[in-house]
Amino acid sequence: MFDAVVVGAGPSGGMAARQLAAAGFRTAILDKKKVVGEPVQCAEGVSEFGLESNGLRPREEWIAQRVSGAKCVAPSGNWFYITRLPGYAIDRPAFDRWIVEGAVDDGADLRTSARVTGISRHDGGWRIEANGESMDARIVIGADGPASLIARQAGLVRRLEKIVAYEYRFRREDVPILDPDFFLLFVSQAYEGGYAWIFPKGEDVNVGAGGPIDGHAATVAFCRKFGIDIARRTQTIAGSIPYRYDLSALAMPGLAIVGDAGGITNPMNGAGIHPGLFSGRIAGECAVGALGNEDPNAMMAYDRILRASPFLDPLLSWMIDRVRTWSDGLMDSVTEELQGLDWRAVDARLSLRVALRKPWLALHARDFLRMIRTLELCDRYGW
Ligand SMILES: Cc1cc2nc3c(=O)[nH]c(=O)nc-3n(C[C@H](O)[C@H](O)[C@H](O)COP(=O)(O)OP(=O)(O)OC[C@H]3O[C@@H](n4cnc5c(N)ncnc54)[C@H](O)[C@@H]3O)c2cc1C
Repeated sequence: MFDAVVVGAGPSGGMAARQLAAAGFRTAILDKKKVVGEPVQCAEGVSEFGLESNGLRPREEWIAQRVSGAKCVAPSGNWFYITRLPGYAIDRPAFDRWIVEGAVDDGADLRTSARVTGISRHDGGWRIEANGESMDARIVIGADGPASLIARQAGLVRRLEKIVAYEYRFRREDVPILDPDFFLLFVSQAYEGGYAWIFPKGEDVNVGAGGPIDGHAATVAFCRKFGIDIARRTQTIAGSIPYRYDLSALAMPGLAIVGDAGGITNPMNGAGIHPGLFSGRIAGECAVGALGNEDPNAMMAYDRILRASPFLDPLLSWMIDRVRTWSDGLMDSVTEELQGLDWRAVDARLSLRVALRKPWLALHARDFLRMIRTLELCDRYGW
C-alpha cells in the first residue's frame, strides 16, 4: 500500500513525486522504460524561468548550453526575436533522471520496466495493475505522456488531437546556418501552424519539424533546403505532442493528470517541459494536501489552478488556428517590417508606417493585435 503512485517518470511525474516524497509520503514511481529518460523524444529547449519558477536551479550535469532566446525566421529568411528570455539546451535523459533521483533521495520507490496496464477504484483509493501485479494507493498521478492510459481509464478523455514532431541530431560543424546563441524557429505555410527548428546544443544541434504534417518528410525537405546532409545525422528522434486535448477535468477525487498526459503543452510552440514541471509540481502539492487532510476531493484544486494558468489560455489555441491560415506571403510581409527587431518594437508609430506602406495588412489587424497578446503571454510565463 502506497500513499501515492505516480505513473510516468518524465519531468511531470518526477516533479509530482518530489513533492510527495519530500513531505514524507510513501510514493512509488512506475515507468515502462528500462532507463528513465531514454530514448529521448525532445528538442531539449527550456527557459530559465521554466526551471527557476519551479524551484530548479540549472546544473552542469544536465545543461548542454545556455541560449539568449529564440528567433522566428520567415520563408524569406528575414527574422525577428520571439523572446529574449534566456534558456537552455538540456540533456533530457540526464535531466529526467536528476528530477526523479531527487524524489528517490527523499524515499520514493522507483520501479523501471514497470508498464501500468490498468487502474480501478478500490477501498476509497486506487488499485494499479503493472507487470501482472497489483498495488494499492490513495492517490494516483497520471504522468504517462501523450497517449495516457491513466486519463483514458479514469474516463476523463473526450478528444485527443496530437501533432507529430520529427528530428535529427547533427554535429555542430554539419549545420551551416546555425545561430550559436539562439533557438531558430522557421515558420511557413508548409508547416500548417507548426514550424521547423534548429536548436544548438553545445557540440550538437537538434534539427527538426513538427505540426499537423508529415514530420519526417518536412524535416528531410528542410535539411535539403539549407544544405544539411542528413547522411551525417548522429541520431533520429520522433514523437507526438499533444495539440488540443479535451479532458472533462484534469483531476477527480484522489487523481490528477499532469504534463503531456493532460495535454498541458504550449500550442504555440509545442513546448511541454515547463508546463510539465509546473503541472507536476502543483499536482504534487495538491496531493500532499489531500493526503495530509485525508480528503481526496482536495485534488480538484489542481484542476482549478491549471485551468486558470496561462498554459491552458484559449488564446494560445485560437492563435495557432489563425496562424495555420497564414500564407508565406503574409508571414514574409510582416517579418520584413520586423526584420532584426523584437516584436515589442511594435508601437503606434511602427503600425502607422506599415499601414501606409502596406494598407492591405490592415485586414489582419485583429490577428496581429492578438498575436502580440499571445507573445506577451508566452513571454510572461517563459517558453
Ligand atoms: C520531437 C520532440 C521535440 C520536443 N521538443 C521540445 C522542446 O524543445 N522543449 C519542450 O519544452 N518540449 C519539447 N517537446 C515536448 C516534451 O518532450 C514533452 O512535453 C515532455 O516530455 C512532457 O513530459 P511528461 O513528463 O509529461 O511526459 P513524458 O516525458 O512523455 O513522460 C511520460 C513517461 O510515462 C511513461 N509511460 C507511458 N505509459 C506508461 C505506462 N502505461 N506505464 C508506465 N509508464 C508509462 C513513459 O515511458 C515516459 O517515461 C518535444 C516533443 C517531441 C516529440
